[in-house]
Amino acid sequence: MGQEWRVAIVGGGVTGLTAAYQLEREATTRGIRIHGTLFEAAGRLGGKVQTERVGGFLLEEGPDSLLARKIPTTGILVDLGLTEQLVESNPRERGAFIVHRGRLERLPESTLLVAPYRLGPLLTTRILSPWGKARALLDLVLPPRSGDADESLAAMISRRLGREVADRLAIPLLASVYGGGSGELSVLATFPELHQLEQKYRSLLRGQRMLSQQRRSIQPGSPFVTLRGGLHTLIDRLSGAFRSTEVIQNADVRELRVLTASTDHRAYQLRLADGRDYLADAVILATPADTTSRLLRDVAPGTAAVLAEIDYRPALVVSVAYERRQVTCALSGTGFLVPVDERRTLIASTWVSRKWPHASPLDSTLFRCYLGGPSITDLLARDDTDLVALVCSELSSLVDIQGVPKLARVYRWSSGLPRYAPGHLDRVRRAEEGLREFPGLVLAGAAYRGIGVPDCLRQGQEAARSVLSHLVSRQRSFHPFATSIRPDFCLSPPVNPGCHGA
Ligand SMILES: Cc1cc2nc3c(=O)[nH]c(=O)nc-3n(C[C@H](O)[C@H](O)[C@H](O)COP(=O)(O)OP(=O)(O)OC[C@H]3O[C@@H](n4cnc5c(N)ncnc54)[C@H](O)[C@@H]3O)c2cc1C
Repeated sequence: MGQEWRVAIVGGGVTGLTAAYQLEREATTRGIRIHGTLFEAAGRLGGKVQTERVGGFLLEEGPDSLLARKIPTTGILVDLGLTEQLVESNPRERGAFIVHRGRLERLPESTLLVAPYRLGPLLTTRILSPWGKARALLDLVLPPRSGDADESLAAMISRRLGREVADRLAIPLLASVYGGGSGELSVLATFPELHQLEQKYRSLLRGQRMLSQQRRSIQPGSPFVTLRGGLHTLIDRLSGAFRSTEVIQNADVRELRVLTASTDHRAYQLRLADGRDYLADAVILATPADTTSRLLRDVAPGTAAVLAEIDYRPALVVSVAYERRQVTCALSGTGFLVPVDERRTLIASTWVSRKWPHASPLDSTLFRCYLGGPSITDLLARDDTDLVALVCSELSSLVDIQGVPKLARVYRWSSGLPRYAPGHLDRVRRAEEGLREFPGLVLAGAAYRGIGVPDCLRQGQEAARSVLSHLVSRQRSFHPFATSIRPDFCLSPPVNPGCHGA
């Protein structure tokens, strides 16, 4: 074994933890000596992935489900021994609802991404007007748009299926993955399959039918899964699997500097908020885009400027639980979505006790509600009592509920989900190109190539592999720089590798 390389991972969300895990695992297999240090600004690991357990309830503060078809691409759940923990959403409660004119209407059968692909459900749903249905059918004959230029989801779906399908069905559906305001998002960065379906089948309706057949043959079960013990189990397993990686919490990285031995031989210096420094041969930045932009301001101003353009949408989750007897709604389903033109602050709700029965005691009914819309910033500032009252009043206008909830929790995310505006993938490419002259400095996380937890797992793994190939290519020509730098080079003593929890 050669000398030891030092790698810093900044950010202890699911991306950073996965990167650190993969780095340690692959380095050990390939006989490369690595000392990984993960810096997390908060006093808890997991970033947006947090589970609160209270009185028999499993309350997810951020993500609550994983897209099943994306999980096999990472393989990491198998490595972590988590496949037995995977549970599918309740097969007896498959349907969902859309709020239309103040009432719950069942989502038409065969709805996949944007609209029902079978003509029967499309023509009989009460959600669309006769004109809206006729306009949707034009999708079968309209020519596809030529070229690969990006556009917004709202623009594309309106172009193919009309405004009514876009507003009343497609955008609320897509918002269940990307949050409120999804109409403004980039097609290529969020749902590239829509672009491919248009190009290949010349129609989104026809294309969705083909896609549904393919997906059914590959993934016959539910499209969503979660972990029986809550999604934070993934965070516990990742951090519990470290052997040599050091994890430092309450470690807010404030500055990044580049130390140059030669043009392709560099080391990096991180400075923490408390003034301590750390030297590394490679750095994975798994922080939200605004933090990453600040860290790169002096090192790579071009990249920093591009990252500053990626803004985040706030998210507000309110979970309320009632005694089962207080909720008398006989409708069967997993929840409902609310189109923007219904003008409500409640934009979606999951009927958790039905969708994930393991997450709620049998005698209770648990709803997870998302607030949003144009007033989201004002809502974030309101106190918990106000927000719970708002949610209860909105819920009881749609579902038959008596009395007050026995449990309520509010989870605020002032920077919840990154907004992939049209042109997002070009921005990401430009940001990465700006780092070419800094080998071993890698970006990863929800800000770039997919916001879902499985996307973050994949990006964390890719970041680790990219750092390892950089170190392997350097191994032949150079010694680790970070460990060979004269100690007097440092402005203050480097972080003591043995010290935890600053
Ligand atoms: C309400 C909500 C619901 C969601 N629902 C789903 C869902 O159902 N399914 C799904 O797949 N995805 C969902 N997501 C998306 C998913 O949870 C996130 O995209 C993903 O968890 C992001 O992981 P990350 O590690 O890239 O970033 P983060 O989780 O943001 O982690 C970044 C970490 O960096 C740390 N950090 C920041 N600055 C510094 C610094 N200067 N120094 C050191 N550390 C720093 C932060 O404290 C944080 O821990 C949801 C997100 C939200 C907010």
